[in-house]
Amino acid sequence: MSLDVINPATKQIYKSVEASSVEELDGIIEKSKTAFSVWSQKTHEERFAALHKVAAALEENSAELAEIITSEQGKPLSLAQFEVGGAVAWTRYNADLNLAPEVIEDSEVRRVEVHRTPIGVVASITPWNWPLMIAIWHVIPAIKAGNSVVIKPSSLTPINTIRLAEIINEHTVPNLVQAFVGEGGMGEPLVTHPDVKKIVFTGSTPVGKRIASLVANDLKKVTLELGGNDAGIVLENADIDKLAEKIFMSSFINMGQTCACLKRLYVHRSKYDALCDALTKIAASQVVGEGMKEGVTFGPVQNQTQYEKVKAMIASAQASGAEVIAAELPPGLNGYFIAPTIIKTSRHDIDVVCDEQFGPVLPVIPYDDLEEVMKHAIHKEFALGGSVWGEASPELEWVVNQLDSGTVWVNNHAEVLPHVPFGGNKGSGIGVEFGMEGLLENTLRKVVNRSK
Ligand code: NAD
Repeated sequence: MSLDVINPATKQIYKSVEASSVEELDGIIEKSKTAFSVWSQKTHEERFAALHKVAAALEENSAELAEIITSEQGKPLSLAQFEVGGAVAWTRYNADLNLAPEVIEDSEVRRVEVHRTPIGVVASITPWNWPLMIAIWHVIPAIKAGNSVVIKPSSLTPINTIRLAEIINEHTVPNLVQAFVGEGGMGEPLVTHPDVKKIVFTGSTPVGKRIASLVANDLKKVTLELGGNDAGIVLENADIDKLAEKIFMSSFINMGQTCACLKRLYVHRSKYDALCDALTKIAASQVVGEGMKEGVTFGPVQNQTQYEKVKAMIASAQASGAEVIAAELPPGLNGYFIAPTIIKTSRHDIDVVCDEQFGPVLPVIPYDDLEEVMKHAIHKEFALGGSVWGEASPELEWVVNQLDSGTVWVNNHAEVLPHVPFGGNKGSGIGVEFGMEGLLENTLRKVVNRSK
């Protein structure tokens, strides 16, 4: 069966690809087991060399990969190039990590070592927002640790993943990474397959919970990177001129379709109007259009469902009395475009504040009392990221201590780095990615305890 991949900037078919079928799954897993039996025996040096070749090949093919990303995901080409650059950087970082045994004790009575062994066939399921980057975040640590991978990309953005698997297999072993292409429901037989030993999933919290429930009986290892509704708090002493651009970028990067985007902004009343004006100006300066066109800085939302969801949130905010500020869209656009939108509101109970928007809209809420606003900033369900903006002060440190998210940024938000652990608390996920800690999630711990 063929799957039409839509370009969200035009609503036209970009390309059609061959979808996988559930009937093929046993054969795909068999091939993955064969790849595992070869790859898991490679030495650290061999995996190091192969992954550096993969990184170089990604770099060589960066123009093609970026064009695919823009065409199927919608983001401006410069952002797609940034995504490919990130993919290369994460690959190199993981290539260099060493999983040599750790000596815990070497005394007269015993020597204890912790060895790290691969798990087997890993199932990866990815979303449509950073399709290449998130595939890399899943696949590269998994194979660095000696596993093989079957990856199910979002059916909305599968093409860059298919290409990624080709590139990796060319420089490692055949079928080390195989794409299993299809709709969401196809993920279920994949995660429940008895020969899949670990699942790494990035996506929405409801689907993450569904996956966790499906594999609970077999106690499979899971890493779940789920939704977020990150708050940012701007202090009374914040320098708005210095921070406004960064606040805008960390909220609207990738048209707001980033798990750890700043999604709710609480601003001290003394700075409220100045910051809203500054954000409005920056929003108005964005060049909205088709990502492949020169000079475009702001693309469409990736798909119709997300477009309608975000539009409905904006409409309901307006109906609640909020002031909705957005520039007119340029004429002639026919995709899922929404101009970057600032929402001025004092309401804490409207959808655009309470729920994850995952789109180009930022509610900005004034506050007078920091302790009071903190009660709103801490989300009852999510705890992915949070931030505080201002000069060094006891108030700033107090906010850092209060926020319960997996990451707290100071005068920044949404920055992720290959060597810095990243993951959510509460409904935002289980487990961690990046850094040595993230790599270890792709291994089994084997303690070797020798008596002397
Ligand atoms: P989604 O949960 O709808 O889909 C994610 C993936 O799961 C897709 O490949 C989809 O086909 C698949 N899927 C759907 N139903 C499934 C099922 N029953 N069993 C197995 N797989 C299934 O999410 P989305 O709309 O693609 O992405 C947006 C969400 O992802 C947002 O909530 C966002 O916050 C979250 N996200 C989180 C992170 C993070 O690191 N925490 C990063 C990016 C995105």
